[in-house]
Order: sequence, then C-alpha cells, then structure tokens
Amino acid sequence: MQCGDLVEIDYPGWNAKDSLTSAAELKRRWRERKTSSLAADQSGVWRFRDLLPPFDDLNSIVTLEEGNTPIYELHRSERMLGIETILAKHQGMNPTGSFKDTGMTVAASFARAAGYRWVACASTGNTSASMAAYAARGRMRALVLIPEGKISWGKLSQALDYGALTCQLRSDFDGCTRVLNQVVRSTPVYLLNSVNPYRIEGQKTAALELVEQLNWEVPDHIIVPGGNLGNSSAFGKALLEMHHLGLIGRLPKISIIQAEGANPLVRLTRSKTKDLVPLQAETMASAIRIGNPASWKKALRVLEATQGRADEVSELEIAEAKAEIGLEGIGCEPASAVTLAGLKKLAQQGFVKRGDMVVLVLTGHLLKDPEFTLKFHRHELFAGTRNESQAGTVAAYERTPVVLEPSADAVLDVLQRAEQR
Ligand SMILES: *Cc1c(COP(=O)(O)O)cnc(C)c1O
Repeated sequence: MQCGDLVEIDYPGWNAKDSLTSAAELKRRWRERKTSSLAADQSGVWRFRDLLPPFDDLNSIVTLEEGNTPIYELHRSERMLGIETILAKHQGMNPTGSFKDTGMTVAASFARAAGYRWVACASTGNTSASMAAYAARGRMRALVLIPEGKISWGKLSQALDYGALTCQLRSDFDGCTRVLNQVVRSTPVYLLNSVNPYRIEGQKTAALELVEQLNWEVPDHIIVPGGNLGNSSAFGKALLEMHHLGLIGRLPKISIIQAEGANPLVRLTRSKTKDLVPLQAETMASAIRIGNPASWKKALRVLEATQGRADEVSELEIAEAKAEIGLEGIGCEPASAVTLAGLKKLAQQGFVKRGDMVVLVLTGHLLKDPEFTLKFHRHELFAGTRNESQAGTVAAYERTPVVLEPSADAVLDVLQRAEQR
C-alpha cells in the first residue's frame, strides 16, 4: 500500500486449473440460484458470488435485490444506423436507478461486516443516492459530499430521503474528492467512492449477467460511458476473468465514450504522454463531469486488452441520442446516452460493422435528471449557449407540450396535424 495507486482484487487460486470449478458447473450454479428464495440468490449481484470476494455470512448481506436488469433491443437505432443488432443493457433499472447499486451492495456489506458506523463518498449524484440507500438498509450512517448546484434534483432528493448527511461543497466533483480524502484520514469513516475495490467487484456482475442473458454468446462491442472510469474497468475485469475461466471463448471490444468537455481519457489515448492530464470538466451530462478520473490506468488496460476505442461526443450529440433512446420507449439519463452517440461515431469510422452485435450500457434512469429532459423538449437546453445556432438539428426530436382550451375540437385539430407530420 505504498505506491499510492488503487487496489485491485486478484484471485490467485483461479490460475491453478485443477482448483477451478469448471465453467459448466459455474453456469449451472448461477442458473439454479435463480429459482432459490435466499436473498443472496435473488440479488443479481450475489448470485454470481463465486466471482466475488468471499463473504462469510450470506444472511447478513446488505441488498435491495439489485442487478437482474433487462436487455432491450433498439430496433429504431438498428434501422437508422444499419447495424444488425443493438442492445441496451439498462442498468438504470436497478433499485436506486443507476448501476452504482451493483457495486454498493458488495461494498456496503463489507463495510457493515467490518463494523463501520459511517460510510462516505464524494459523488456527482448517483453514488450518493445509492450509498445512502444501502447505508440505510445496513443501519449505517452516510456522509455525502456533492458539488453545489451541479447535481440533478432527482439524485439529491434520493440522498436526502434515505437519510444521508449531505454536504454541498462550493466546488466540483474533483474538489469534493480532494476534501473527502482528507476527511477519511482523520476520522474512521469507510470510503465508498469507486476507488473502493469491492465496488468494482460488484459492478463486474453486470457483465456476467449480460453474457448469461445472451446465452453465453459474446457481443462484438460493448460501449460504456466514461466518468471516473470505474464501470468500464469493472466490465473489462469481468470479461477478462470470464475468458480466463473458460466461461466465454473470446473477448468483446470494450469502448469508452466521454463528453467532449470531460474527456481526459480520450486526450490521453490521442497524446504521446503516458500520464493522464487532469482538466476542468464541463458537460450537462453531470454523471460524467469528471476531469481527474481515479481509475484511468485500469480503463486504459481494458482498452488495450480488448482493443476497444476511447471517443468523445458533443453536448448536442448527447441530447439527440438521449431523445432517440427515449423514442424507443426506454429512456436514460444524459450520461448514458453518450453510448449511442459514440456508437454512431464508431460506425462512421468503420470500427463497428453492419453485421455486428453491439451492447450499449445504459447507466442511469431517465427520471434521474428530469430537468435536462424538460429543457430539451422546451427548446431551452441550448438557449444562450455556444450551441444555440446548431440546436435546430435536434428540433425534430423536441416534443413541446401544447396548451389548449378544454375542447375536443382543439385536441382533434392537434391530433390531425400530428398525424400529417
Ligand atoms: C457513475 C455514472 C457514470 C460514470 O461511471 P464511472 O464508473 O464513473 O465511469 C455514468 N453514468 C451514470 C448514470 C453514472 O451514475
């Protein structure tokens, strides 16, 4: 613990072939647990506990039945982009509305088993919502540091309702992280940021569940949004472990998409330097507004190991992609929509091909950030910004509510005009 770098959990036993449970046996076990009524089996995370750090007392895990999230086929996007199969793994369908729950159940369980009274995190919103919920379930107290004015009301209201002590610092996410690192050095609170290795382990299960749902068929591409880069690291670690254990025969390419204004990883992959250069992050996709991502080394290794790409998308591209996902009847928060916007770029580059199977990881629920969505549909999102003049390109997706006199004729008139459009 001297290098100052992040901890990663390794499973040395898995290298000895004879001590391994066979891949077929693991698959059988995971399938069988689906029919069990044990809380640990009903969790889409703990069902895969054979690939998690051993936890002694399965009856005392802190769980909200996380995981078990759906995969939706995006037929409209398939038609528009001319790509055979585009699937959305919707991690926003977790109990608190984001993928953070899959890591939080593991980390909170270990925190409680270790006897901590307080857990803490710095957050762009979803981590605090998730941590507050799991702390409450585990009867621990939660300290949340969030950037003042820069997180969505949906996420903030969750942390408050779940009873967290919430501090809004006059800073950004990176500033909150700095302060928290000082706080944990002077008082015994348990740090639940994504540097927490148990969170990464729990987040791996999204990839396990995904491939299991696909009947162990490996997609050609998995596309993940990149903020602090914990999620992309977890997906990569899971797939490398699955490959190593013989659960899958090949690796998908994992690509990471950032917002143009919060693109430190993209810059790194395009530069000759070996170290990530932190930057002042700016994007309306607040969940990925991070300029100094903690897990950049792990993410870089995932890109290299799976031969994926890092790319960036503009605010307009994010808004358009989000509206398109909405039109599939699915919806997601802005940070998740970078995956579809990124897919368009990767397809243009010829990196994703017509016959490919692509999985987009939708990280958060539409209702996390209703303000963004309302502003978009009211044509207010880009008003007064440097994007204002280009905002016409997304106007086709705007569905401004119409105010009418309470008469059937007025409604029928609107209906008729919509039919003709
Ligand atoms: C946390 C979060 C991200 C970013 O994930 P990282 O692990 O920080 O890269 C993206 N989207 C949503 C909705 C999130 O909550």
